[in-house]
Amino acid sequence: MILRTTSKLNSFLNLQLPQYNYVKNITIAILYILSARLGLFFATTDGHITLIWPPSGIALAGLIIFGIRLWPGILIGAYIADIIATDNVITSIGMSIGSTGSAILGYWLVLKFIGKSNPLSSIKSLYIFVAIAIISPIIASNLGTTSLVLTNIIGWSSYNSVNFTWWIGDFSGILLFTPVIIAWQKNIRPPIIVKPNYIEITLFTILLILTSSLPYLSALPSEMIGYPLAFISFPFCIWAAYKYCMKQVTLTLLIIMILAVYGTATGQGPFYRDTLDESLFQLQTFMVIIVITTLSLASAVFERQKFEIQLLTQKKRAEELTRAKSQFMSSMSHELRTPLNAITGFSHILQQDQTALNNQQREFVGYISDAGNHLLHLVNDLLDIEQNDAKKLHIKPTRIKLYDAISESIHFIEQMANKRNISIHYDEETCQDFYVTADKTRLKQVLINLLSNAAKYNRENGSITITCEKNYLSFICIAITDTGEGISKKDIKTIFEPFSRIQIEDSYIEGSGIGLTVAHKLVALMNGNITVTSSLGEGSTFTIKLPIEG
Ligand code: ADP
Repeated sequence: MILRTTSKLNSFLNLQLPQYNYVKNITIAILYILSARLGLFFATTDGHITLIWPPSGIALAGLIIFGIRLWPGILIGAYIADIIATDNVITSIGMSIGSTGSAILGYWLVLKFIGKSNPLSSIKSLYIFVAIAIISPIIASNLGTTSLVLTNIIGWSSYNSVNFTWWIGDFSGILLFTPVIIAWQKNIRPPIIVKPNYIEITLFTILLILTSSLPYLSALPSEMIGYPLAFISFPFCIWAAYKYCMKQVTLTLLIIMILAVYGTATGQGPFYRDTLDESLFQLQTFMVIIVITTLSLASAVFERQKFEIQLLTQKKRAEELTRAKSQFMSSMSHELRTPLNAITGFSHILQQDQTALNNQQREFVGYISDAGNHLLHLVNDLLDIEQNDAKKLHIKPTRIKLYDAISESIHFIEQMANKRNISIHYDEETCQDFYVTADKTRLKQVLINLLSNAAKYNRENGSITITCEKNYLSFICIAITDTGEGISKKDIKTIFEPFSRIQIEDSYIEGSGIGLTVAHKLVALMNGNITVTSSLGEGSTFTIKLPIEG
C-alpha cells in the first residue's frame, strides 16, 4: 500500500524525469525571485511577510500551464528569494519547501477537481479555483511561520498573526495573478463572436484609466478623501465581462489593481490607513471582491453563450429533421393513398355487383374494404398531424349551422352504433339555433371522431347523448356523453397525445391513438378547445367549445 502510494507520488512529481526543461525552470525561478522582490516592497513583519505575494500566483499558474516538471524551478526560485530576504539558510529551506508544497498542492487540487479545462471557463470551475486559492497556501503559511519561529526571527507570540498574514498574502497572490496569467496563456473567447469595435475599445480604455485613477488623485477635494470612490470601476468590469474576451477582462482588472496599489502605496485613496498593514488589508479586500465578481460574471457570460450556441445548433438540427420528416410523410401519404383508393374503390364496386361474387366472397371483399378505409383514415390523420406541426394545416372558417354539422356527423356513426345496440340521443332543441365560425369539413371530422369513439368505447346496449349549451356570450359547448367504461384521471392526461391508447384488459378495440390528437389540434385552429370529464364505470363526456357566430 505504502509502496503504491509512494510510486504514485513519484510519478505525479515526475521525479524520474528523463530531462528537465531547463529553460522553463530557470525562467520560473527568475520570475519567482523578481515578483518576490516586488511583493516584499509591501512587506510588514520585519520585512519578511507581505500581504500581497505574487510568486504564489505565478508558481501555481506555471504548474497549471507547463505541468509538474516546473517544481524544481519554483523550489530554487523560492529558496533564493527567501535567502535574500532572511539571510538564513535554515529558515529559507523551510519557507521554500512550504511555498513549493503549496504550489504542488494547488496544482494537484486543480487537476483533481477541475481537470485539464481552463479554471476560468465555467462558474463551477472558477469557484473550485477560489476554494483552492483558500486551501493551498495553508502549507506555505504554516511551514514558513514555523521556520521563522524556530530560527528565532519572530517570537511564538506572533505565530498566529504572521501565519494569517502569510496566508492572506499567498491567497491574494493566487487569486489576483493566476487567472491573469492563465487567461493570457490560453484566452477564452466568447463563443458568439462580435467584431471588435476599436473606437469603443479605445473609449473604454481611456474611461477605465481616468475613472479608476480618480480615487487616488492627490488633487481630490479634501472632503472627498476617504469616499469609497474605488467602486467607480465596477461598471467597467461588468462592461468587460459582458463584451470582451478573458484576456481583456483580466487586463481590465490588472489596470484597476495597478492603479489601486500604486495610489495606496503613495498614500492616496480610500484604502490608505495609518499603517501599511491596515492599508494593504483594505486594498486587498477590494481587489479580491472585484476579481471574484468580475471573473464570475465573465465565466457566466461565456458559459451562457456556449449553451446558447449548443441550443441553436440543436434547434437547427431539429428543424432539419422535421423538414425531412415532413417531406417523407407527405410523399409517403401520397404514395399510400393512391393504391388505397384503388383498393377501397374496386372492393366497393365488387360489393355492389350482386352477380359477380358469392356470399362468402362478398363478405371477404367487405373485410378488404373496411381495412382499406381504416388505413386511409390513418394516413389522413397522420398527414393532418404532420401538416399541423409544419404549420401547413389550413382551415377555412365560415359561418355554419351547428345543427346540420352534428346531424350529418351522427349519420356517419349510426350503423356502427346500431351494430352494438347503442342508442343515440340528440338533444336537437339545444343545438338548433346556433351558428359557429368553423371549417365545416374539419368540424365534422372532429365530431365523427368523438362520436365514433363514444360508440367504440361504449358498452353493448349503451347510449350516446349529444347536447349543446351556450357558454357565456360568445362560446357554445357541444357535449358528447357515452356510457362506456370511462377513463381514469391518469389516462385523461395523455389521451390527446399522439399514439396514446388506454390498455383495456381482454378487449381489443381497433384504433390508432391519433384521432383525438388531430381533433384537438383542429379545434384549436378554430379558436376553440376540447375537454373531457369521465368517471370510471359510468362513462365520459367530451366537450367541444367553439366561438359562436353572431
Ligand atoms: P383511437 O380511438 O383510434 O385509439 P383516439 O385518439 O381517438 O384513438 O383515442 C385515444 C384513446 O383515448 C383511445 O385509444 C381510448 O383508449 C381513449 N378514448 C377515446 N375516447 C374514449 C371514450 N369515449 N371512452 C373511453 N376511452 C376513450
